Amino acid sequence: MFPFDNSYSRLPDRFFSSVYPEPVSAPVLIAFNRALAENLRLNLDETDPQRLAEIFSGNTLPPGASPLAMAYAGHQFGQFVPQLGDGRAILLGEVVDEAGIRRDIQLKGAGPTPFSRRGDGRAALGPVLREYIVSEAFAALGIPATRALAAVLSGDPVYRETVQPGAIFTRVAASHVRVGTFQYFAARGDVEGLRSLADYVISRHDPDLAGSEAPYLALLNRVAGRQAQLIARWLGVGFIHGVMNTDNMTISGETIDFGPCAFLDEYDQMKVFSSIDQQGRYAYRNQPGIGQWNIARLAECLLPLLDEDEQKAVEAANGVLKGFGETFQAAWIATFREKLGLETEEPEDAELVQALLSAMQDGRADFTLTFRRLCDLAAADAAAARAGGGQAGRQDATTRTGDERPDETPADQPDDRRRLEAEAAFLEGFAPWQKAEAWLPLWRARFSGEDGAVERAARMRRTNPAIIPRNHRIEAAIVAASEGDLAPFNRLLEAVSDPYGDRPDHAEFTEAPRDEERVLRTFCGT
Ligand code: AMP
Ligand code: MG
Repeated sequence: MFPFDNSYSRLPDRFFSSVYPEPVSAPVLIAFNRALAENLRLNLDETDPQRLAEIFSGNTLPPGASPLAMAYAGHQFGQFVPQLGDGRAILLGEVVDEAGIRRDIQLKGAGPTPFSRRGDGRAALGPVLREYIVSEAFAALGIPATRALAAVLSGDPVYRETVQPGAIFTRVAASHVRVGTFQYFAARGDVEGLRSLADYVISRHDPDLAGSEAPYLALLNRVAGRQAQLIARWLGVGFIHGVMNTDNMTISGETIDFGPCAFLDEYDQMKVFSSIDQQGRYAYRNQPGIGQWNIARLAECLLPLLDEDEQKAVEAANGVLKGFGETFQAAWIATFREKLGLETEEPEDAELVQALLSAMQDGRADFTLTFRRLCDLAAADAAAARAGGGQAGRQDATTRTGDERPDETPADQPDDRRRLEAEAAFLEGFAPWQKAEAWLPLWRARFSGEDGAVERAARMRRTNPAIIPRNHRIEAAIVAASEGDLAPFNRLLEAVSDPYGDRPDHAEFTEAPRDEERVLRTFCGT
């Protein structure tokens, strides 16, 4: 059935522990990603839901699976733990997808493993649904992340702060190798293990580096570059990962582990949602710095492979860390330039972005709505410019022909009215709004050297999502699902799968939470 080709299981024994999923009592399929299954060539078209539930609960192993739990270590909130490992995740195996990319298929919550420590190896329904929605939202947003293939109710309770329905999540990843996987071998002084792991990830993720002059340094550079770009993309959609431990940072550059993650509603650069992040280590604004810190931990592991001369190895690693900062800065400004509709690059652009963010911070403006309303404003400006009426249009007309018509007040023209309404809608999101109002002319003036106002507005709508998986929506979907009603989950999933669209029936998903709906804290799935 599954065209398995399990490369990780062919690595040395000490890389993993072979372990079978522990059967559950009454598996029921609650979500299945048919499009992804096809992309993975799993041949499940004819398979009925009950059979799918058996497979994606771990009750029935698909032929060719070689189930295993991966060994890894990690820094958790800055503290090194020499052995973590898959405590509740079991890798079934790998398949090569339609694009030729090798992907892991892993069951999360499939029972205890030798790495479970005091945990039960299980997952609760809530975190499973959260991960499902956020993974698929990332896919639709075009940001690298692991994917959701299936979710199954186990029929067994799990015991957390309260008793909750147990569930199993099937995760698909470019690989599950993490910074913490390297730390596992480094902590044991196992240089051969490190080298095997590095060679493995090069052949899997960066095959062009094999045989190059300094492959391990080049690998470190690639991983740093991917993470720097990824984190810039997170900031661009207001995402807070919440638990950026080194065991939750992939080598592939995919976002992984959606435990206590959340998207910003109102902008606050120091925002933290996670109940366990009491110091704000993983606050929105701290994420690039933490990314770099994590890459430094990876660099430390790789030192013995970088150069025989330790001093030279350290210098090379420092070069990579500096490169992380530069790549992040470049990716960050590129992300926000796009969000503002800028096509050209000016040295003052970072200041322009910061000025808007500062207005958003002071005005407690909703992150997603602010940028989406800016798209509306760009569209209204474009229409007014075309009609030769609005402020933007008037400026153009003045510079081009000097032909102003002072007898017509702008609001007399429909395009001007639309522009004023769009401006009002934008400013309404800020309280106070004065800084935002002062920012608008700076933003508009920035376009004097750029044409294509109409295309700009359209472009902005393709980069500023209308719909993100807002916390209050996820919570509501989870509450309904735990009472047996999956309709809100399915509607939310459908909405986040079309983040840039303007479907009238999705309008409610664009809205910020009312005060009483606001989610203040998120919890790990553990
Ligand atoms: P996380 O915070 O989800 O990245 O998990 C950190 C570590 O705790 C990993 O080694 C997990 O495998 C392990 N873990 C989390 N939840 C459980 C659980 N319910 N049972 C066993 N191990 C777990
Ligand atoms: Mg983890």
